[in-house]
Amino acid sequence: MSFLKTDFATVRQLEKKTRVFFEWGVGLLAVGLVCTFILGILGGVLLLVGAVTILAGIVWTSVLGKEASKSVFCPYCTSKNDVYQSIQLFDCDICKRPIKFSADGEAMRVLDIGTDLAR
Ligand SMILES: [Zn+2]
Repeated sequence: MSFLKTDFATVRQLEKKTRVFFEWGVGLLAVGLVCTFILGILGGVLLLVGAVTILAGIVWTSVLGKEASKSVFCPYCTSKNDVYQSIQLFDCDICKRPIKFSADGEAMRVLDIGTDLAR
């Protein structure tokens, strides 16, 4: 499932991504429910798609959310990020600046301090 993890590195990012599944799923269920009364079988298909979408969201969240995360404080803005263990490089949830881990697991700035201040 590692290919699915390319888009996010932290728990907060995962929640943001999977929320889309639930929003679409609930939307499709609502539309499907209305259409079932008007169109019959077509509404039933929408209901099914909506249910599958929500189910996919639940599975995705539970599979990917299972990996242990660690609390990391951003070296730029000191915000707390819940980062998955396998992640070596990520962008801070709050300030969006890149953070990497040193060999001993310390969160480090990727941007050079000099260039960072020069912005
Ligand atoms: Zn930050």
